[in-house]
Amino acid sequence: MSDWHHKDVAAVLRELDSDADRGLSDAEAAKRQAKVGPNELRETGGRSALVILWDQLRGAMVLLLVVAAGVSIYLDEYADAGVVAAIIVLNAALGFAQDYRAEKALAALKQMAKPTVKVRRDGVVKELSSRDLAPGDIVLLETGNYVSADCRLLESMNLRVQESTLTGESEPVEKQVEPLETEDAALGDRRNMAYMGTVVTYGHGVGVVTEIGMQTELGHIAHSLQSVKSEPTPLQRRLGQLGRTLALVAIGIIVVVFLVGVLRSQDIKLMLMTALSMAVAVVPEGLPAVATVALALGARRMFQRRALIRKLPAVETLGSVTTICSDKTGTLTENRMTVTVIDVVGDRLDLTEQLQRDDTGLRFGEVHQQQVADESAFSVLLAAAALCNDAELEYDSEQDQYHSLGDPTEAALVVAAARLGLPRDRLTRMLPRVAEAPFDSERKRMTTVHHAAPRNGREADSEDPEDAEVRRLLAPLLQLDDADYLALTKGAVDTVIDVCEFVWIDGEPQPLDEKMRTRIQQAHDGLAEQGMRILGFALRPIDEQELSRLQGDSPAGEQTPDGAEAIERELIFVGLAGMIDPPRPEAREAVERCRTAGIRPVMITGDHPLTAMHVGRQLGIAADGEAVTGRRLAEMSSEQLKEQVEKVSVFARVAPAHKLQIVKALQELGHVVAMTGDGVNDAPALKQAHIGVAMGITGTDVSKEAADIVLLDDNFATIVNAVEEGRKAYDNIRKFVMYTMTSNAGEVCAMLLAPLLGMPLPLLPIQILWINLVTDGLPGLALAVEPAERNTMRRAPYPPGEHVFGRGMGWDVVWIGLLMGAVSLAMGYWAFLDDAENVARWRTIVFTVLTLSQMGNALAVRSISDSLFRLGLLTNLPLLGSVVLTFVLQMVLIYYPPMQDLFKTTALSGTELALCLVLSTVVFWAVEARKLFVSLRSRSA
Ligand code: ADP
Ligand code: MG
Repeated sequence: MSDWHHKDVAAVLRELDSDADRGLSDAEAAKRQAKVGPNELRETGGRSALVILWDQLRGAMVLLLVVAAGVSIYLDEYADAGVVAAIIVLNAALGFAQDYRAEKALAALKQMAKPTVKVRRDGVVKELSSRDLAPGDIVLLETGNYVSADCRLLESMNLRVQESTLTGESEPVEKQVEPLETEDAALGDRRNMAYMGTVVTYGHGVGVVTEIGMQTELGHIAHSLQSVKSEPTPLQRRLGQLGRTLALVAIGIIVVVFLVGVLRSQDIKLMLMTALSMAVAVVPEGLPAVATVALALGARRMFQRRALIRKLPAVETLGSVTTICSDKTGTLTENRMTVTVIDVVGDRLDLTEQLQRDDTGLRFGEVHQQQVADESAFSVLLAAAALCNDAELEYDSEQDQYHSLGDPTEAALVVAAARLGLPRDRLTRMLPRVAEAPFDSERKRMTTVHHAAPRNGREADSEDPEDAEVRRLLAPLLQLDDADYLALTKGAVDTVIDVCEFVWIDGEPQPLDEKMRTRIQQAHDGLAEQGMRILGFALRPIDEQELSRLQGDSPAGEQTPDGAEAIERELIFVGLAGMIDPPRPEAREAVERCRTAGIRPVMITGDHPLTAMHVGRQLGIAADGEAVTGRRLAEMSSEQLKEQVEKVSVFARVAPAHKLQIVKALQELGHVVAMTGDGVNDAPALKQAHIGVAMGITGTDVSKEAADIVLLDDNFATIVNAVEEGRKAYDNIRKFVMYTMTSNAGEVCAMLLAPLLGMPLPLLPIQILWINLVTDGLPGLALAVEPAERNTMRRAPYPPGEHVFGRGMGWDVVWIGLLMGAVSLAMGYWAFLDDAENVARWRTIVFTVLTLSQMGNALAVRSISDSLFRLGLLTNLPLLGSVVLTFVLQMVLIYYPPMQDLFKTTALSGTELALCLVLSTVVFWAVEARKLFVSLRSRSA
């Protein structure tokens, strides 16, 4: 076992031949990977080809077929046995091909859902697939990340890691950089290591990769983790149930048909074969495969529309979503924040005008033109904004432009400060950060502590005129109290005000009285009503002792939140910054689409109620009324909560725990809920929701792992598109069920009705098997690619627990089956009366009418409500193709002599064939007439 934890950082880096600041070069990393392989756990999940094949062969249906083949051989009916064997092979091959493709597609999707890592290569930070990590890589660890390889930590800023995957311990472990004394420390005690598969829950850090792939601690136990079985979807489960019921029905049919035949003293051998083949006919063998195919196709279409499905059942569930709870920032809005207003006591700076102009060349001089009274207050605010901040401005030499990196809210502040003459890099040199209490959506604020005393020798060589200018602007701040350290806080105004006791006026802290509070509140509300996101800024000089409490070194202050509380008190309030974040142009339309589809959109945000309501109104989510805040939610009884979630569409100042409450309340009311989330703390709500939705761009690894789907573009409209695909997939599965069940019912009806007419067996076993093969096979699969119904997004969601035969489908199966059987028999009966001795002729007629009727049926069930003429023949080419192919094959069976021998058919005359063709459209017209009837009735209703 390795002992990285025992060595100091320098030794570790030397041994791994890496550099903390530069990292590896891409070439070096590639070379190392070539030696040890990619950073992957060997996948034992997923089904192998053999298992998939076996899955095709082990069903009850195949067993029936095998028995049928065995019996045929035993009875010396080798031709029949051959056909049955062909059916087994064809069915298995078809099923295998479909299943294999679905499996592959899912594996590819899974691969894409894998998290990326931030790595320092050649001195710059890059985002790579975790697969590309090599030993010696320098990785950045941030809150919400999965650790992608085993790492020795080089830096830890309050870094806490949850290691339950490895140790079973769910309480996060605080990490350090210093080497451990004990060489044989247990895994859970190696506080200077971060292991693959664990989760960063707080703070951030830097580590050097020590082991990758199967060499990691997780790799050692990987085999025990990978046996995750994919669960069948609710629909698949119901279909499985249906299949088993039908198998019982089949057995009943075997007994009845056999006994009736024996009683009518027909050939026992023939009756046995007939009974068996009818049983085969009753079982809808294509069903499980088609369901999987339809869902996998749905998942693929969703991916093309920027929604990544992580769990197949989600495709189906998406179709029945009734409520979508969405974040505001980034999902409904663009998350392109721009600071437009800065407000300090007694003065306000409007940046909108500057924004219209060129980005470059904006200096602080511009501010003078607006005649601000207190320049220093603005400077102090902007310095706090840029320093209490983790975003960076990066210069792109190719485009000669600055790009901001990091959280858009923070990036906006860095940009604003830079524009007004306070670039972040200059500030951090002057006031380096020494500690921090990171932002979290519970506290809604963050604090950083900076070393305020000028560093040794800094003053001497800071002849740089720009440095001097910054120093001049910040003079009141730097002279404040002569303290060594400065705590800077930013966050939601209400939560910042809560911890302030002073306010910055004319370069001096003054007590924060009621009047002042009201003034700040009014300034805030005025801006919030315009839909702005508003942040408040505050600061406080602190000394060494207080600092150590935040750093958690002192024995008393073990936990950082306590430390944060110790610092975040008696602060001096400086002012506000208001930023705009325009609503996404496509979000409005998506909200509208939700409404017409009977889905209620709900906005949930951490922002202020006024800001939230403004955006809600702009997007049409809320017409009027008020937003309900998280605080009010927390005070409600569960009855009140249910009442509120039913009617309120905007929830503001919400913490992650409230999201969970909202989901649960909605679910108790019977809604099918989709819920978005991006933070670590959102995972419980994402898991609880029927559909957990994670953000592909801004979301944390943890939220993605907990989610059912990931939005690759973070866009609300994408959720709505996914719902549409889900509805389509569900509709198509039902169409297939309808098609296969009516077709099977047709065969059974024909067989059971014939004795009533005094006809001997209207179909031979081999003919029954054939019909079953061609109808359940290709046309069935082609139904899975049927385009969406015209009204897919204009109807209410179907009730979640709907029965497979719901909405009248049970009756359809019965009457269409009866009609199909009756029509084919009637035509056969006509030939039977004409010449009962010519058995091959009337059987061929029944056989042909039945087969072709099913083709008409396939074309008619393509839409639930639209006629084929409205859809157009060419809108589902695979189906049209399989119909034509089936027709051609049927002609071969009738007219090609070797096939005639095998299928006991005979050539029909032209008139007979024409009659067959005409009669076999009866089913088609009947189904079309039904659609017309239903739509006329619903229109008049
Ligand atoms: P949303 O649900 O809209 O994404 P967040 O939970 O991200 O909202 O933010 C909630 C509030 O926290 C915001 O209104 C803002 O005032 C504050 N806030 C957001 N980001 C930061 C940050 N990086 N630093 C300090 N405060 C922040
Ligand atoms: Mg957010």
